[in-house]
Amino acid sequence: MSSLETIAFDADDTLWHTENHFQATQVRLSEILDAYAPHDEVQTRLHGVEERNVKLFGYGVKGFTLSMIEAAIEISDQRISAADIHEIAMMGKAMLDRPMELLPDVEAVLADLGRSHRLIMITKGDVMDQQNKISQSGLAHYFEAIEIVALKDTATYDALFARFGLQPGQTLMVGNSIPSDVTPILELGGYGVHVPYHVTASFERHQAEPNHSRYRRIERIGSLPDLVANL
Ligand SMILES: [Mg+2]
Repeated sequence: MSSLETIAFDADDTLWHTENHFQATQVRLSEILDAYAPHDEVQTRLHGVEERNVKLFGYGVKGFTLSMIEAAIEISDQRISAADIHEIAMMGKAMLDRPMELLPDVEAVLADLGRSHRLIMITKGDVMDQQNKISQSGLAHYFEAIEIVALKDTATYDALFARFGLQPGQTLMVGNSIPSDVTPILELGGYGVHVPYHVTASFERHQAEPNHSRYRRIERIGSLPDLVANL
């Protein structure tokens, strides 16, 4: 019998699709900037601008949209048209206004694990965007607490664990990002479960799977109840 009490879930690309929309928008940006630079250069320079800006904008669609505009102006050497800038701004708004798409089995997994464990959601990004997604998802009632944070590092999780009175050894966090959802939890003494999403944001790339006794990897969120039962 597992002594696990609390299961914390990442949201973007763990409970619902997000990164596929970022990738599709970046492809369109490359097309808009086709006259100025090859597509792979557009992607590289956009990521450079995003990295430069993330300290100021945080993670989320609004900051990403401003970074796309800034990159477009730089890549075009200030020749990009107002019509193209307008399209980029509209692409950002379309991302914020997209219908919610849950990942397969999410609702069944939450219903199942919610009968035996305390569930919390820990997600990062723009507050309004995250609140809209949480509301559209219809999943809020499964969670005892929902936290929207600016950064998912060890200090953030440490503060949340203290606030909720979570014992690290009885807490598991599941998410699609090793640096954001897994490594900090392992460092604090909890269980970290990686469920890869089919595309990974440039910020979240991580070469190595952790070599750790409390690390697990599953291919689909649907496998989580079995993992928890056998922990
Ligand atoms: Mg995620």
